[in-house]
Amino acid sequence: MIAEITTTKAGEIVRVLFSIVARYFLIAGIFYFVFYIWKKRKFWYAKIQQRYPENKHIIREIGYSMLSVLIFGAIIILTIVAGQKGYTRVYARIDQYGYFYFFFSIILMIFLHDAYFYWTHRAMHWKPLFRIAHKTHHLSINPTPFAAYAFHPIEAVIEVGIIPLIAFTMPYHPLALVIFTIYSLLLNVLGHLGFEIFPKGFASHRLFKWHNTSTHHNMHHRLTRCNYGLYFNIWDRLMKTNHPEYEKSFDEVIEKREQGKLMSDTELEKIRG
Ligand SMILES: [Zn+2]
Ligand SMILES: [Zn+2]
Repeated sequence: MIAEITTTKAGEIVRVLFSIVARYFLIAGIFYFVFYIWKKRKFWYAKIQQRYPENKHIIREIGYSMLSVLIFGAIIILTIVAGQKGYTRVYARIDQYGYFYFFFSIILMIFLHDAYFYWTHRAMHWKPLFRIAHKTHHLSINPTPFAAYAFHPIEAVIEVGIIPLIAFTMPYHPLALVIFTIYSLLLNVLGHLGFEIFPKGFASHRLFKWHNTSTHHNMHHRLTRCNYGLYFNIWDRLMKTNHPEYEKSFDEVIEKREQGKLMSDTELEKIRG
């Protein structure tokens, strides 16, 4: 019996760790492959900082991300175990709260995480805390998608903290949490992509300006003390922490992208050197 429980637990640990690693390499890997290898030449003009990071930086990003995966896995497993013991607000059947709540809960998780991320991120930019916990993430000045989980272990604990916060405070279906974490990773990878994919005028559009762009988080890596948000540009606008040149910089990136589209391969080659 004991052996049976241990085997199940071990199986669960492997399953959780594998799914985190697989998601990371799948999503970050696909974007890296398309933008940095396969369509490298085609997308060069959309590169926010016109240079590529050295390989050693990419290896560091992956190394720290693997350490984060272990920490994420440990906290997620503890949350699952707490749920099995009835301590969290997890529920098993969607019809217990209905489909409306199911979809609403995903949106709620995203907005909750947006606030959580903004304020924990700002706290980590307080000098003493920055040196201990957040400096590691900022070693990527010109980040690639693999920087998505490149955190110091202390920051990894803070980042994954959103999972128990959700699990203990709001009723949630496991599938809703999975959809939320995939969406979160996708937006995280976009923020570290290094290329701008949003359309012209997006950052200053009446409505879309409330959503973040790749340029937004890229500027955070290059300039540090501005642009703290994750999904939305709500908190940065409210707290006036957007870089004063954010919208202008976005327009410049787009202008370069548009010009690049009209260039021939040889012209592009000349600029790239
Ligand atoms: Zn930061
Ligand atoms: Zn970052």
